[in-house]
Amino acid sequence: MSGDMIQCSNLKKNYGHKKVLKGVDLNIPPGTIYALLGTNGAGKTTLIRTLLGLIPRSSGNVNILGSDPWQAGPNLRQRIGYVSEEQGLYGWMKIAQIIKFCRDLYPKWNSGFVASSLQRFGLAENTRIRTLSKGQKVRLALILALAPEPDLLILDEPMSGLDPLAQRDFLKILQQDAERTGRTIFFSTHDLHDVETIATHVAILFNGRIQATGALDAVRASIRRIRTTGQLKNLPPQVRELEVNKDGGVYLLPAADQAWPEITGANGDCQVVEDSPALLEEVFLYYCAGGDKA
Ligand code: ADP
Repeated sequence: MSGDMIQCSNLKKNYGHKKVLKGVDLNIPPGTIYALLGTNGAGKTTLIRTLLGLIPRSSGNVNILGSDPWQAGPNLRQRIGYVSEEQGLYGWMKIAQIIKFCRDLYPKWNSGFVASSLQRFGLAENTRIRTLSKGQKVRLALILALAPEPDLLILDEPMSGLDPLAQRDFLKILQQDAERTGRTIFFSTHDLHDVETIATHVAILFNGRIQATGALDAVRASIRRIRTTGQLKNLPPQVRELEVNKDGGVYLLPAADQAWPEITGANGDCQVVEDSPALLEEVFLYYCAGGDKA
């Protein structure tokens, strides 16, 4: 047993004939802030809901905090804080009512944290939830998810729909919480800025599989960018064209690839004028440029 907070192997999920997860392998070590990065529709919500046991998987293995979530009872749920995209807060309740409602569901509840967070965000306890702004609802959902002091916090696109200020504020709360508690945080996003700002690790989901995963610096360093004079004909499969113009081309390829000199050599007039690490955006483009194969 590895001690990873989340482990899954060859995880598959179909909706009818539609194959959304085609064999996901993922290990989330304790103490990491792990971003699940993917375009809209890549299957991030499906993966999170499958990992949590909220929807059944089609096949494969899942282990979360040492248990299979599909078999586990409330004890496992109590150790996981979860904020979904829609937050699932009851609009008719007042803030004080939802706090009491949630507190009764958990053995641990950090009332001091709740009180100070409500004050910090200017959330009055007698406010009706449906009158809150999107940003306020997301902050409230985060407070409710953290109050039971979960070992693992899972957030599904928590920043989507927030304005840049609210987004920055939210990321800061997450970062402070992780620094204070060492809690493991797993969050999905399609926004590279979120990843660059707080993630220690990243997994790129595309075409139903994890295309790259690990420490953020290592994933970033896995791809390099090469600028050439002249354009390459017949690109080898591991090389992706980023742009070409009359002066030459820019290409992305695995950093460890040794074949590059032969590739340019076979292309006559091609000279390498720049060989540098790729930006995270380019790394993302590289791994998501393979087309949506079955
Ligand atoms: P993401 O969170 O990355 O945007 P989702 O997991 O929400 O992606 O969706 C992945 C794909 O699965 C999408 O094509 C979506 O339309 C489809 N999908 C999601 N939920 C269902 C469902 N309940 N039934 C059928 N298709 C679904």
